[in-house]
Amino acid sequence: MGGLPGTDPFRRAGAYTVWLSRTRVGGIGRQRVCDAGPVTAALDAVRAVLIDLDGVLYVEDQVIDGARETVSALRESGLGLRFVTNTTARSHAQTVAKLDRLGFAVAPDELLTPARLAVRYCEQRGHRSALLVMNEEVKEDFAELMEDEGGQADAVIVGDLGDAFGYDVLNRAFRAVMAGAELIALQKNRYWMRADGLSLDVGPFVAALEFATHRDAVVVGKPARSFFELALADLDVEARAAAMLGDDIETDIGGAIAAGLAGILVRTGKYDRDDAASSGVEPTATIDSIAEVPALLARSGALE
Ligand SMILES: [Mg+2]
Repeated sequence: MGGLPGTDPFRRAGAYTVWLSRTRVGGIGRQRVCDAGPVTAALDAVRAVLIDLDGVLYVEDQVIDGARETVSALRESGLGLRFVTNTTARSHAQTVAKLDRLGFAVAPDELLTPARLAVRYCEQRGHRSALLVMNEEVKEDFAELMEDEGGQADAVIVGDLGDAFGYDVLNRAFRAVMAGAELIALQKNRYWMRADGLSLDVGPFVAALEFATHRDAVVVGKPARSFFELALADLDVEARAAAMLGDDIETDIGGAIAAGLAGILVRTGKYDRDDAASSGVEPTATIDSIAEVPALLARSGALE
């Protein structure tokens, strides 16, 4: 499967390798960094880890090798954990159930989804009704809002509709925004890795609405700073004491670093070397998969 460990020609079997993308600056390509000093220095204060789901723990129903063992090891070490996803194709409860089915015991309070922030944002803005552009089962996470199918909505909230994204639903959203509703995106990811290959995420559809309406969406999921701040407040740790583990160079790593966290990029899921290199984002560390996290943190002193 593309993107899974073993596809990187620079990977050495059994070798623990850390890459600093800053070494590519100047167009000379990346160099192997044998001395992981700068990386460990940035990770030694880590007391909590935020873990992305898709592409880090699993790709659809296939668990990434070592993911379950790593989550267990991090728990046993006493690190604070939060599971943070931009996935809006399923409700919060369905995602907890999926994690359980795949062998990850995650308490409901440990899973943060953009829905929680969207509801909070609507409360702050005084929005009472919303056109909910998302799968039917996800709407249970928006019970605090009145669903409005017509042009009276205070907000248009866009999540994942998968194959059901189409002209009619986008046009309804477009009309609601033109009638005054605020455009709120649960996330704006460009694409994600499905079992059958890279696939359009929610972002391209949000971008279409922004283009048509001349409005910018308020994005509540990663990489929004408020999303990371919610996780940190939950864990009662400062940003410098937390690391984000993700496969998306922009939303996971760029967002985390901008919010003051360390960002650990994994080469699984949607990871693409060229995208990572051209993103302008410098991960604190890049590792082959989540399976290498205990070793990385142990070397930094964050893990006994
Ligand atoms: Mg991901």
